[in-house]
Amino acid sequence: MLTTLRRIVLEFSQEAELQNALERMVYNVKKAMKTDCCSIYLADYHQQHFLLMASDGLAKTSVGETSIGFSEGLVGLVGQREEPLNIADAQQHQDYMHAPEVEEDDFNAFLGTPIIHQRKVLGILAIQQKESRHYTENDEAFLVTLSAQLASALANAEVKNLLSHQQQKNQGVKQLHGIAGAPGIALSEIIVCQPQADLAAVSLKKSPDSQKQLLRFEQAVEKTRIEFDVLSSQLSEAIDDDSLAIFDVYKQLLEQASLGHEVAAKISKGWRADSALKLVIEHYISQFEAIEDSYFRERASDIRDLGTRLLVNIQQQAKEELELPKEFILLAQDVSASLVAQYQHQGLLGIISLTGSNNSHAAILARSLGLPAIMGVNALVLGQLHQQQAIIDGYSGELFINPDEGLIREYQYLLSQEKALTDKVMEVAQLPCITQDGRAIEVLLNAGLSAGFEHSAKLGALGIGLYRTEIPFMNRNCFPSEQEQTQLYRKVLQVFPKHGVTMRTLDVGGDKSLPYFPINEENPFLGWRGIRITLDHPEIFLVQVRAMLRANQGLNNLEIMLPMISGVEEIDEANRLINQAFFELKAELTKDITTELMSASNEDGHLTLQQAQKKAQAVSAKLVRPKIGIMLEVPSVIFQMEALAKRVDFFSVGSNDLTQYLLAVDRNNSQVANLYDAFHPAVLNALNSIAKQSAQYLTPISLCGELASQPAGAILLLAMGFDKISMNGHNVPRIKWVIRHISFEQAQNILDKTLTLTTAKEVHSYLNEQLEVLGLGGFIRAGY
Ligand code: PEP
Ligand code: MG
Repeated sequence: MLTTLRRIVLEFSQEAELQNALERMVYNVKKAMKTDCCSIYLADYHQQHFLLMASDGLAKTSVGETSIGFSEGLVGLVGQREEPLNIADAQQHQDYMHAPEVEEDDFNAFLGTPIIHQRKVLGILAIQQKESRHYTENDEAFLVTLSAQLASALANAEVKNLLSHQQQKNQGVKQLHGIAGAPGIALSEIIVCQPQADLAAVSLKKSPDSQKQLLRFEQAVEKTRIEFDVLSSQLSEAIDDDSLAIFDVYKQLLEQASLGHEVAAKISKGWRADSALKLVIEHYISQFEAIEDSYFRERASDIRDLGTRLLVNIQQQAKEELELPKEFILLAQDVSASLVAQYQHQGLLGIISLTGSNNSHAAILARSLGLPAIMGVNALVLGQLHQQQAIIDGYSGELFINPDEGLIREYQYLLSQEKALTDKVMEVAQLPCITQDGRAIEVLLNAGLSAGFEHSAKLGALGIGLYRTEIPFMNRNCFPSEQEQTQLYRKVLQVFPKHGVTMRTLDVGGDKSLPYFPINEENPFLGWRGIRITLDHPEIFLVQVRAMLRANQGLNNLEIMLPMISGVEEIDEANRLINQAFFELKAELTKDITTELMSASNEDGHLTLQQAQKKAQAVSAKLVRPKIGIMLEVPSVIFQMEALAKRVDFFSVGSNDLTQYLLAVDRNNSQVANLYDAFHPAVLNALNSIAKQSAQYLTPISLCGELASQPAGAILLLAMGFDKISMNGHNVPRIKWVIRHISFEQAQNILDKTLTLTTAKEVHSYLNEQLEVLGLGGFIRAGY
């Protein structure tokens, strides 16, 4: 049964046209379930009805014509209840609705299941039979499983279809929703970047230049063939001859006489190289997968592998030919922070990522660059959006493809208001961050996610609250040396010579991995991450701390912060290592300076060894042990504040991780993004408790997560008593503007009321309303 199920889903997703896919699917299901009829209805939320889209058993003339209201008939009932309905004699059921045009009078048994994607009913899959009987539990389980699997493919296909219709007609706006990843608006052309070759994501397109496409394919074949030669010679010592033979099979498949020949034939019929490859490879795969013999089914994965390798090389050439327009919106399957950094100076206006969530590091970086971003738009087919006009509204998470004139004018107006607001907030950039009744809160900068943050120093921040050191570790082939790190940290410390700069020790693991230090874990966010890694690898930790200490010489503005602390032992161990680094470095410095002084005095002998040592000690005495603080981001710390406070100089809350760990919601997973919310009452109460306890134990408290850069978040943190908040440069003047426009008393009233609310939804609507009342609505939506 599992094979049948897989085959039906695969065949469905491989069809380029939605209508063909639906027809094929109902035919397959009817056959597999040995029943008399199978039909699929899709929900139309504008019309509030289910439309019969395909049927094998009902009158052909009713397909595309017959619709059933959301609250009508058995189909409507399945949609309303959101559960399967299994009836032996449908015509006797009180909700049965007679529709003569579908010609179902002979059918009695009915089994319908809803097709639900992300809590939304997309359609109904129903089977019917003449014989009056209840379908078996196995039948029901099969249909439910199939519907669940079809759901995402259908969500995909739905959009695919709508878009291709749109392209044909070249009219009509398509509106899609994602997660509001970074606020702001962008109007521009979409450029699709496909870093991961994925045959399923290739949209079928024709090209007027078959010669060019053929050349592209031939070059990709040649490159792939060379790659196989290299691979097989590299592996020849490590694996046996039988395993090596697979490369010969691949190479044979590439020959013009077989698979290569078929792709070339499709290209000469006008298909683009990638489309032709997709058609041929997917045809082969479905043929192999349809065979019940496991040996042949395995060969399907070989074909897929070969196809993907070829696609990489085809796309590589296409990418080399890709010319970026002056301004564009970047769209990719999985936009990473480094992809954003790569394009940030090339006309990048906004970001759309099919995966990820609003706390993925790409979204955090987008916010720091002031670029709007929409994350987790998970029902898109990449290729079809390339070079299409779009509007992204990063406040609401709305994406408009092919906007009409009216919509463009409306958003151009909102964009001009955005620009005016950005200019206006700059008026307060250099003024103190102080409420109207004189309460101050320091606003600091978060840096490190991208190079070149120096310009942010002009935006009015009082130092760096969080310098993420992991990014400089990422774009490399090995760990940076102590000297390289020293140079880098020195530059960072010099940006704010008169203010504190808090550098966080390496926080890799979770969603930040190093290419040269792979970590493979089932559950990375709960695994080997942050301080856990560096304490297990003191050699990495010690080098980093020594580099920070060296960089700090003479500047003395460094503060060191430890990430992912979950208990006191970790601090004790880290403190021990920091002391070790400090005293070793001091001794080394004394020795080095002594040697230098002695060799300089060798010529005239004006210094004795003792005198030189004394001078050297005086210099190395200037090496300062910096303040040490910890991130509060693992919930266990909330219950150990007193013990922690005794061991550190300051606390800084990492609200991004604290939210994910307190609510048990992966911060990167778009599937559960609706549950990830730093304004959840549990998180706000935890923050309030942290602020109170920090004051009780006389330990300075700041917050460096994304919550601080949200106007309502900053107001609440001010009222809770946080001493400092840190955020990306773009938001520094904005948050100053917000704080300068309220009184501490107003902030306290808002906090008091907020803490009485019991759901995140209530919190948001109350806070949004308050921001509007305060005349600060322009910071949370387009236009003001
Ligand atoms: C946090 O967790 O809030 C934080 C600031 O660190 P990061 O986002 O790098 O995990
Ligand atoms: Mg964190």
